[in-house]
Amino acid sequence: MPSIALSKDLSVLYITSEVHPLIKTGGLGDVSAALPAALRALGADVRLLIPGYPKVLASLRYKRKFAEFPNLLNFPPFVLWSAKLPKGKGISKGTPIFVIDCPSLYQRSGGPYTNTNGKDWPDNALRFGLLSKIGAILASDDSPLAWRPNIVHCNDWQSGLTPAYMYFYQGKKIVSLMAVHNLAFQGVFPPSTLTQLGLPSTGFHINGIEYYGNISFLKAGLFYSDHIITVSPTYAKEIQTITLGFGLQGLLAGRSDHISGIINGIDIAEWDPATDPCLAQNYSVKKITAKGINKRALQQIMGLAVDPDIPLFGMVSRHTYQKGYDLLLQVAPFLARLPAQLAVLGSGEGSIDRELVALEKKYPGKIAVKIGFDETLSHLIEGGADSFLMPSRFEPCGLNQMYSQRYGTPPLVHATGGLLDTVVDCTPTTLADGSASGFLFYEMAPGSLLSGIQRVVDAYRNKTTWRQLQRNGMKKDFSWHSSAMAYRDIYLSLLS
Ligand code: ADP
Repeated sequence: MPSIALSKDLSVLYITSEVHPLIKTGGLGDVSAALPAALRALGADVRLLIPGYPKVLASLRYKRKFAEFPNLLNFPPFVLWSAKLPKGKGISKGTPIFVIDCPSLYQRSGGPYTNTNGKDWPDNALRFGLLSKIGAILASDDSPLAWRPNIVHCNDWQSGLTPAYMYFYQGKKIVSLMAVHNLAFQGVFPPSTLTQLGLPSTGFHINGIEYYGNISFLKAGLFYSDHIITVSPTYAKEIQTITLGFGLQGLLAGRSDHISGIINGIDIAEWDPATDPCLAQNYSVKKITAKGINKRALQQIMGLAVDPDIPLFGMVSRHTYQKGYDLLLQVAPFLARLPAQLAVLGSGEGSIDRELVALEKKYPGKIAVKIGFDETLSHLIEGGADSFLMPSRFEPCGLNQMYSQRYGTPPLVHATGGLLDTVVDCTPTTLADGSASGFLFYEMAPGSLLSGIQRVVDAYRNKTTWRQLQRNGMKKDFSWHSSAMAYRDIYLSLLS
């Protein structure tokens, strides 16, 4: 393997199942847009590979067909397109992208992973087995392209089989890296899937793809890749423990020398209160008072009582157990009795959606809930809320706590994963040294969250403290630049 030292010599195939603004269900979509662009700005040649969902194909103009596969293994016929990410406001514009156009696997209404009722697509193994397989082909001598990567960067379970295909088909000449955005999603399927996807039965082994009697795409990636990256230093440690290792802690602890934690950045062009078109009023650290116009707009849109002085908590996320909704639901009646309001946006598990809607009915004007995915409203909540709530049970990195700090909306977060790495708790010491930027609560228990809420309400009353907190957060650098340099350094060290 040639030794290289410059980012311009890096060619990276970045395999992902979502990318903003084409298709996004969570943080991976944001990261897949911003990190490749930031690496390209450093001189690396990064190109994306993604499935051709309807929204992806509809958004890409000027695409060029570069290969047809009428009968690859057991996969239905498909073609490959190359295109560029559409020009937009963010930093994602212009990144080259390869798209797998396989109508019988991807052309359907619903989400990338689930149908309109939130149920996993029954053929997900085939859908993301194909993504993984094409990733391996584009990194091999069988590639229909003249371009070759020297790094294959896989993301989450959907591309976890790529390092396994590379190992079994190519003897693994190219460096592969497995990025874990959330260890809770593992791509677990019955053992028979292995041969269906064209992988040898020898892979069905504890030192391989086998996972408690089934196969796991994610485990394959963790086992066969050269290096593992998670999206924060704290999460890199947490996944090696029984509490947050989801059954993979043994494998991960055994590979601890090959695990790095790099905190995600955010797209500072897209998430900028000074220019954000989704806000009712733009503002900056020099003109924070203008933020109040967004609070008023948010209160009106959500049907909350319009009151400039009551602290307004915001929350935007998938409605799942991970995000701590059980805790929020227990604490909400107490919050409703405080001088405080709550605006929630999100969707996910039906039972959580229903309980939140019931809360809204019970506390009209104080708690407001919008079920659904709404990019514009998510920006307005960041801009209009006073404080942002993230009681996540675990959080590999988390993006909203960084958006919140940039928007002068000090977050209240559970001290876990990337939340712990990016929010500085408000104490007399951190206020004095200018680092305080939010609030942490340490126990995943209703009392601990509630006392955090009370701390926010108290701090909000003191306008000097509050302004200081807002300013500290707004001045922090959450851009991708330093994270992209850390990725580049890992790529280079793997190649040298
Ligand atoms: P995760 O990847 O676990 O969902 P992150 O905090 O890393 O969590 O990223 C979530 C991203 O998805 C953020 O950009 C957040 O604003 C966005 N998001 C989540 N739910 C919604 C929603 N219902 N409407 C709009 N944006 C959402």
